[in-house]
Amino acid sequence: MQVPLPARWLVKTTRSAANLDDASAARVEQLLLLVPQDAEAVPWQTLPGGAALRKVAARHHGKPPVPLATTRLDNAPATSVLVAGVAADAAPFRLLDTARQLVAAGLAEQPASIGIAACGFDEETAERFVRGLFRALQAAAFALPKFTREAPPRPRLKQLRVFGTRPRFNLRAAEAAAEGNNLARWLTAMPPDRLGAGDYRRLVARLARAHGWQHRFLDEKALRQAGAGAFLAVARANPDRDAGIVHLRYRPRRATRPSLALVGKGIVFDTGGANLKPFKAMLDMHMDMAGSATALGTLLALTRLEVDYPIDCWLAITPNRIGSRAYTAHEVLTASNGVTIQVVHTDAEGRLVLADTLALAGRERPRLIIDYATLTGSCVAALTDRYSGVFTNRPALHAPLVAAGRESGERVWPFPLDDDFDEHLKSDTADVLQCAIANEGDHILAARFLSRFVPEDCAWVHMDMAAGMRSDGLGAVGTKATGFGVDYTLELLGGQSAGPCALASLAR
Ligand SMILES: [Zn+2]
Repeated sequence: MQVPLPARWLVKTTRSAANLDDASAARVEQLLLLVPQDAEAVPWQTLPGGAALRKVAARHHGKPPVPLATTRLDNAPATSVLVAGVAADAAPFRLLDTARQLVAAGLAEQPASIGIAACGFDEETAERFVRGLFRALQAAAFALPKFTREAPPRPRLKQLRVFGTRPRFNLRAAEAAAEGNNLARWLTAMPPDRLGAGDYRRLVARLARAHGWQHRFLDEKALRQAGAGAFLAVARANPDRDAGIVHLRYRPRRATRPSLALVGKGIVFDTGGANLKPFKAMLDMHMDMAGSATALGTLLALTRLEVDYPIDCWLAITPNRIGSRAYTAHEVLTASNGVTIQVVHTDAEGRLVLADTLALAGRERPRLIIDYATLTGSCVAALTDRYSGVFTNRPALHAPLVAAGRESGERVWPFPLDDDFDEHLKSDTADVLQCAIANEGDHILAARFLSRFVPEDCAWVHMDMAAGMRSDGLGAVGTKATGFGVDYTLELLGGQSAGPCALASLAR
């Protein structure tokens, strides 16, 4: 069965060089405006409907609601204006959260066209805020998969206009990021019967053709030849025999930079295996492929940006099923780099499929490897689902890793990766235990385990995506599948601002 792709990934956007005034406001059905939280600092007299908005805003003291004020203009489309206040020095996460609420209120009116602007800020802040509004809008206007008998109503929203931010707002970069996030969320939200391993592989092949990526699929036979015993153990109980590792290559016309590898965990459904998960823990496990979706979304965004460095993307795609052939505790698996692993818990399958995938990615000696995985419950226990955990074999990267989280609003926090943690992974029968019996610090032990499959001469960042799914959404995004990591990685690599590429400095 061919998975139908969405009719559109983004709302068409134009950048209007015109400043926001009554004439330009009349070209849209709705205006979404960010203004300074301090009402005294708002340039009410320059805003369309400013006098009315000012009166409504004056009624709010203390914690201002979102939207702060609304009005309708006396023009042909009866433009609806919604305003939210945000402090000029607001943290990016707070800004995105406010933008999401404003956008939700706006889209509830189902306008056919929306104009966005940030008014009363310096140029740099206005650019950042408009980017946040744009991001929230493109996320909220994008429909996640739905399979109702009757087709869902076609969205009225056809056009988005960005006012008054010339020339700094980089529309192309913002669109690339939004498209990557939407792709990641769309894939993550797909039901498991619609996106089994075979469906996923075929879908990625179609995307590869559409975006000019070289494409290779390492099926079970190829993986046996590669000695990928860790991956194959997880795939063993899959009766469809359609698991495997997808390898995509993006090659710029003239590659001048060190190469990047993106690696993602793509467990299309995780039952836990023989150590079966209970009901609630298993419920959302079609999202256990969020890491692969983020890797793919990031590859798409970087392709749209036409970055000048080569990228290899590796997706480890398999279900983790129960069955008479399922792998069990105390098996000794041999990974493709020769390391032997004693199985402890069949629900710790993510690190097994990543072990072989990282080892295969490492054979090509990329300068930087970033892997994404919804890997451990202990990372969620440590951070909640508001932050994701990061680990790296280059401690000097801790500061830029945290900074990229703060700036993108996809926040991360680093954990240690000292080698004495290996004492918890000592095995009597193999080189390493898959995990410890106790769950203490499992996210750290998982990262230590993975480090065995990454060549030391590759800089490596491992993201444990505690924030990959969150019931109420997170930051700019209002859906359970957050697509966490796409914006983060673009910020880390310098792609958001289209500034200098940070890859060379990261990959030391
Ligand atoms: Zn699992």
